[in-house]
Amino acid sequence: MANFEDIVQRCRTAFASGKTKDVNFRRKQLESLLKMYEEHENEMINALDADLRRPKQESLVVETEFLKNDIKHILYNLNDWVKPETPEKSLVNLLDDVQIFNDPYGVVLVIGAWNYPLQLLLVPVAAAIAAGNCVVIKPSEISTNCAKFVTEMVPKYLDNDCYPVVSGGPTETAELLKQRFDYIFYTGSTRVGKIIHAAANKHLTPVTLELGGKSPCYIDKSVELRTAVKRILWGKLINCGQTCIAPDYVLCSKEIQEKFIAEAKEVLKEWYGEDIKSSPDLSRIINHNNFQRLLGLMKSGKVAVGGNYDASERFIEPTILTDVKEDDAIMQEEIFGPLLPIFTVENAYDAIKFINSRESPLCAYIFTAETEVQNLFKRDIQSGGMCMNDTIMHYAVDTLPFGGVGSSGMGRYHGKYGFETFTHKKSCLGKDLHPLGELLASGRYPPYSDRKSTL
Ligand code: NAD
Repeated sequence: MANFEDIVQRCRTAFASGKTKDVNFRRKQLESLLKMYEEHENEMINALDADLRRPKQESLVVETEFLKNDIKHILYNLNDWVKPETPEKSLVNLLDDVQIFNDPYGVVLVIGAWNYPLQLLLVPVAAAIAAGNCVVIKPSEISTNCAKFVTEMVPKYLDNDCYPVVSGGPTETAELLKQRFDYIFYTGSTRVGKIIHAAANKHLTPVTLELGGKSPCYIDKSVELRTAVKRILWGKLINCGQTCIAPDYVLCSKEIQEKFIAEAKEVLKEWYGEDIKSSPDLSRIINHNNFQRLLGLMKSGKVAVGGNYDASERFIEPTILTDVKEDDAIMQEEIFGPLLPIFTVENAYDAIKFINSRESPLCAYIFTAETEVQNLFKRDIQSGGMCMNDTIMHYAVDTLPFGGVGSSGMGRYHGKYGFETFTHKKSCLGKDLHPLGELLASGRYPPYSDRKSTL
């Protein structure tokens, strides 16, 4: 096991030297990271293929292009974001300087997950660099090929004292967490999120926890169903369902359920052909444990579409399940695979009641053409985010904060929100010692009396 104390100490020394406070230094590091994405795009795609058998087109959209655009967006805006802010002043402070400085926290830890192993790690890393921090970078050990890429390549492009990469699984991470960090950004399961939170608490370290949950998807009869089915299945099947914001289950009436199934059969055939297993466009399940877990979940309800699998390839066919019960395992735990249960409800009110009786999801998807129904969900549902008549796409809007609420997480990032996550807003009041100011302010000094002003 690496000597984590030494690694963190080296970061502390680098941070204390002040070099990450220089915005030009940060820009150079970010430009270098962008160069890494450009020069090694194929290796990144190959690593994703080796870990998840991810189709190239998906990797381009959700990892490499996403990463490049993220850095370009930061570089374009960074000079504005770092500027001290001058908030409005009240009459009392008219003669004073009132400022907010955007300070880095110091040495931060970013822990990534395996399902989008590059993007979920390097987007927060870029935000932390932009904000002027030193960053200890910990990829998920489960996506081994991507972890190897990050471990080998990042040190060639980023300053080694400021941005070390550490590797390992739960044992190493537990050891790493004994160190004191100034901020921890974690992406992964709610279960491990609690471990991270408890470890951070020992040092009073602030955290962002990007966790999971069951994101519901409500559909009513006002929608153009073919389009809705395509958008829902795409969100479910990208990365073979191993997406934190995949629509986890569908809520709809019995009537819509039948039509949904008929449309889904046609869409799946159009996308993957008769023999889905031979299609190059569907990823595989990351490992044997998750494959077995998903087979267990498939025992709930009745298979209406799909149901086939092949352990030798960790292939699971896109599968739609009906007649699931509220307390079935598939309706209790996050699915994280290509299984889509449909739970029937009478109407939007029932759907809202159902969603609100459970933990707050990372996202709520609503498919309806009725503005009133949309407004009902916007008003009554607590979720990390919300997306109307589409899935996943809200994630790609730079100007929208991304994060969970309740058991789906705490904190937010993307674009400026990422920069702010890794920034301490240091407020500063600047006065002078002019006699007039002192006269105006003298009412605060003892001896107190009712006649004195409180200026
Ligand atoms: P994972 O297994 O890759 O774990 C994430 C990180 O936690 C890894 O770096 C791992 O080494 C570390 N870890 C695992 N066990 C640990 C332990 N006992 N102590 C300390 N560290 C430990 O990923 P996962 O947890 O299987 O990821 C899947 C979950 O992540 C799903 O619930 C999914 O919804 C969620 N997720 C959330 C987001 C988001 O942005 N909110 C994104 C992706 C995944």
